[in-house]
Amino acid sequence: MTFRVGIIGAGMIGQEHAQRLDQRVSGTQVAGIADMNRDRASHVAAVTSGAGVYASGHDLIAAPDIDAVVVTTWGPAHEEYVLAAIATGKPVFCEKPLATTSAACLRIVDAEVAAGRRLVQVGFMRRSDPGYQAMKQDLDDGMIGEPLLAHCAHRNPSVPDSYTSDMPINDTAVHEFDTMRWLLDEDIAAISVLLPRRSRRASSHLDDPQVLLLETASGVLIDVEVNVNCDYGYDIRCELVGETGTLTLANPERVDIRRTGLDSVRVPADWRARFGRAYDIELQEWANSLAAGQAGGASSWDGYEATAICEAGLTALASRERVTVEARQRPSLYGQPLASPAARA
Ligand code: NAP
Repeated sequence: MTFRVGIIGAGMIGQEHAQRLDQRVSGTQVAGIADMNRDRASHVAAVTSGAGVYASGHDLIAAPDIDAVVVTTWGPAHEEYVLAAIATGKPVFCEKPLATTSAACLRIVDAEVAAGRRLVQVGFMRRSDPGYQAMKQDLDDGMIGEPLLAHCAHRNPSVPDSYTSDMPINDTAVHEFDTMRWLLDEDIAAISVLLPRRSRRASSHLDDPQVLLLETASGVLIDVEVNVNCDYGYDIRCELVGETGTLTLANPERVDIRRTGLDSVRVPADWRARFGRAYDIELQEWANSLAAGQAGGASSWDGYEATAICEAGLTALASRERVTVEARQRPSLYGQPLASPAARA
């Protein structure tokens, strides 16, 4: 069966996902596009194999010839479209963030729980990245014993002037928040933010770099360097330190270059180059879950936890104090609470 997908939001990632779902993912075709900007929607529809253009996201969700929905608008519009999709019983893939406040995320969680089945997948694509998946497999197989520490870095060559001091947490490190919960099978209990010497490449309204210190429920310490003006490339790093060894994230296939006086590898230019394969796998997994009739991947609950960590992080940034992450009790629809290290052993 081929699922007819409607995409709301024809901007940067909406265009990319439209091509993926129409041309690379098996089991889906893009049947509809909606965007505030109708011309942009028409432009994206024109590169699919025949998607229609809808006057609004709500018209698209209600259309009988749309089986499943992808939400790629800016964050503040996610909640209304995800709630509308749940209300019609249609599966929905929502780019991160699930919603921009934890209260909005909980409204989605409550609607999904009331519907009685998982309909929502959140676009935390690192869970589908082969490098992170290999790390998780080795950690779960006990290759390094119990994890004790993690060192992460999220470096971008530069950011536009519109990028402000909250965005290293809300837009950038949110990926690390979800990835570390998933890798370690543990919730984040507290966060602190440290501000080192400011880069001269940062705009006057941006504290860059930032160092975030996360503490898991069992006491694993995770430092995250967010450094969005590093100039040299898009560099995502992760090292897990366990009782008996370490695991280091491997970047995608690359060629080792040796020439006179040089032994080096290329650094990806941007997030598309680094995570293109992860997006392909993520959306194929979503298509497979449509066929299975049950959403997989990052859930609404994971989206809620990530936004709750962002909120605590912003409080920590403003106060420079350690802030505990407050989260509601997990509904049974989303499985058991994340395992403690003892449970994994
Ligand atoms: P973008 O280029 O600004 O595109 C968003 C599009 O949605 C724009 O065309 C915008 O129109 C439209 N839009 C905004 N509000 C709408 C509404 N209420 N109804 C219909 N259309 C609406 O943004 P983007 O970079 O593609 O990002 C979109 C989402 O994907 C964000 O949540 C972002 O965080 C996420 N994202 C995730 C990743 C990842 O790695 N997983 C990477 C990139 C982006 P106007 O321009 O006219 O407002």
